Amino acid sequence: MRDERGREINYLRVSVTDRCNLRCRYCMPEQGIDIKPHEEVLRLEEFARIIAVASEVGIRKVRLTGGEPLVRRNLPELVRMVAAIDRIDDIAITTNGVLFPAMALQLKAAGLHRVNLSLDTLDPKRYRFITRFGHLEAVTRALDLALELEFHPVKVNVVIIRGFNDDEILDFCRLAAERPLHVRFIEFMPVGHLEFWQHDRIMRCEEIRQVIEEQYQLTPGKMSRGNGPAKYYALQGAPGSIGFISPMSNHFCAECNRLRLTADGKLRACLYDCREIDLRGPMREGRDDRYLGELVRQGVRMKPERHLMAENRWQHRDRKMYQIGG
Ligand code: SAM
Ligand code: SF4
Ligand code: SF4
Repeated sequence: MRDERGREINYLRVSVTDRCNLRCRYCMPEQGIDIKPHEEVLRLEEFARIIAVASEVGIRKVRLTGGEPLVRRNLPELVRMVAAIDRIDDIAITTNGVLFPAMALQLKAAGLHRVNLSLDTLDPKRYRFITRFGHLEAVTRALDLALELEFHPVKVNVVIIRGFNDDEILDFCRLAAERPLHVRFIEFMPVGHLEFWQHDRIMRCEEIRQVIEEQYQLTPGKMSRGNGPAKYYALQGAPGSIGFISPMSNHFCAECNRLRLTADGKLRACLYDCREIDLRGPMREGRDDRYLGELVRQGVRMKPERHLMAENRWQHRDRKMYQIGG
């Protein structure tokens, strides 16, 4: 379905939980996280039903995220249910990777196509600092396994934070130079846990690119599957590629194709727009698929033209990034 600005909306990002087994400094506070009570969070069958309804409205791609999607019990079961929906042709997850090695085979068997692993540093001490208690080796194991099991393409999401990991840009390029990994550099955004956020910690993609081009030749390229807002470049002679996601310096809202579903069943038309449509209430009151489908259409119609992140800071006290689905 097209929205009022002609954008084809075919992608649903689903936050399956607002819980997480890490506490990345830019995303969650160490303590006092506002977790939704169990009864407010959708059951797996409820997620699957909404995704099926959304597929009738035009959704073709689904990404499971959170919070940390792999802490959601029986996640492979949800993948299996989504894979069984005819019109959905692409199922991916975004994960910190910690639990991935233990679940990878089950996820593959259930029908998961792709994995994005979030990894901001290759230094174990820094990893522990930024995630507050993560172990880097769990994520490197996850990367190895994702490649081995051919979750293609395997993407690595790296948020570049000036003064924290900007000296590792070339190390991440080396990953793509040596292995068929798609390393995506993401600009730091004023979303999530703002105590860590500072304007001067943003490093614009243009600047990141200049650092890379001192060492590597980048050729504009295209990804075959799951080509979201990233601009992709091939690294000369390398099996992997490099991508840039620049929500701050060059927002990609004009090409936005997504809706979001929160763990408690609210549909959001934009990460940055506080308006939500409640799907859980009507679903639990017994409304039929047609009614729910109309609510999803309403969500498509209310998509804003673009976000105002550069002009305003994150304004909703009600939800953080991990509660919406990053
Ligand atoms: N827990 C999963 C993970 O970390 O991959 C999925 C949820 S997490 C919120 C999704 C992505 O959002 C991660 O790649 C994370 O680095 C990114 N993210 C979170 N806060 C961010 C911020 N302030 N700026 C840029 N990216 C952010
Ligand atoms: Fe958890 Fe992902 Fe947020 Fe880190 S970025 S705290 S792993 S939800
Ligand atoms: Fe789409 Fe909103 Fe993100 Fe822009 S900010 S790309 S409109 S979700």
